[in-house]
Amino acid sequence: MPRYREILSYTDMAQREALALQRGMNFQVRSGAAGYSIILMSLRKNAPYQDQWHDEDSDHPLAGLLEYKGHDLPNYAGSTDNPKHIGQPMTLPSGRLTDNGKFYQAAIAAKGAKQDPEIVQVYEKIASGIWCDRGRHLLIDAEIKPVPTGPNTTRNVFRFYLRPANTPDATTPEDERELATSRQIPTAVKVAVWKRDQGRCVQCGSTDNLHFDHDVPFSKGGSSITPDNVKLLCARHNLEKSDKIQ
Ligand SMILES: [Zn+2]
Repeated sequence: MPRYREILSYTDMAQREALALQRGMNFQVRSGAAGYSIILMSLRKNAPYQDQWHDEDSDHPLAGLLEYKGHDLPNYAGSTDNPKHIGQPMTLPSGRLTDNGKFYQAAIAAKGAKQDPEIVQVYEKIASGIWCDRGRHLLIDAEIKPVPTGPNTTRNVFRFYLRPANTPDATTPEDERELATSRQIPTAVKVAVWKRDQGRCVQCGSTDNLHFDHDVPFSKGGSSITPDNVKLLCARHNLEKSDKIQ
C-alpha cells in the first residue's frame, strides 16, 4: 500500500514520527543505517518560504527536483534584527551548525560523492493542520545565494535540491506510475478537493487514513488533473478500488 498520497492531521504526523515537529527542518531525526531527516514544506501562497517543484517534463537541469528554501534564524532573545534582512548563517554564535548548515554540509558531501545522499521525508502542508505525505527524497545538492534586500544590500540564503526517491514500499512499476501521478496532483487541486469533500472519505465519511484518489490512472491517459477527477478516499475504499482496477 503506497503511503505517499496519505493525508495526515498534524497530530497523526507527529505521532507517526514520534516527534513534536515544530520546525520546518529536522536533520537526522533517526540515525544509523535507516536514518533520515524530515522537512515540512508548503506551496500555499501565504507560505513563509516559497518552495517549489520543478516541472518534470523539461530539459531544465532542475527538472523533477524539489527546491527547498533555507530557513531564517528564529529571533533569539534581545535581537532586534529582522530575520528577513540578515543572512541565513551556517553556524550559531556557539559555533554549532544551524539546521541550514547541517543540511548544506550533507548535500555538498553527497554531491562530491563523499557520502550517500541524506534521505529526507517530506511533508507538505495543504491546509491549516492538514498535511500530505510526499514520500522520501534524496538531498543531492545545495547552494548559498546572495539575494537583494535593498538597492545596495544583499543577504545570503540557502537553497536545497532534493530528488524523489523510491521508497522501500514503492518499488513496483505500478507504484512508480502511481507515485508519478500523486506528485502531479497540483497543490491547488488538492486544496480544492479537500474543501469540497470536507476532509472525509466520499464513500463512508471516515476522516481516518485519507488519500487523494485520482479517477483516471495516469498510465491510462489521466494527465489533466482537475478537482473533477480527484476525490478523497479512506485507505479501505482506496484499496478496494485499486483491487478492482487490477
Ligand atoms: Zn471510506
